[in-house]
Amino acid sequence: MYDEEEELEIKVKVCEICGEETERLTACRMCGVNFCDECGYPEKNLCFDCGDEVDEGLEDEADETLVESSEMDED
Ligand SMILES: [Zn+2]
Ligand SMILES: [Zn+2]
Repeated sequence: MYDEEEELEIKVKVCEICGEETERLTACRMCGVNFCDECGYPEKNLCFDCGDEVDEGLEDEADETLVESSEMDED
């Protein structure tokens, strides 16, 4: 009889940003960093760093027609 040491390689997923273990890692499509749900936007595949720069979804404020600062004086 031999002991079969089960070498289960438990690959712990560690967020590369906060260093915490996480169940789900997402790879940023911009910089490639693996981040947890709390360090980026998993649905966008962007870390906070890159997600902030992209900002492609600011459609929420399209409802109101409040033009606070009219910087665009084109005429
Ligand atoms: Zn994290
Ligand atoms: Zn990134």
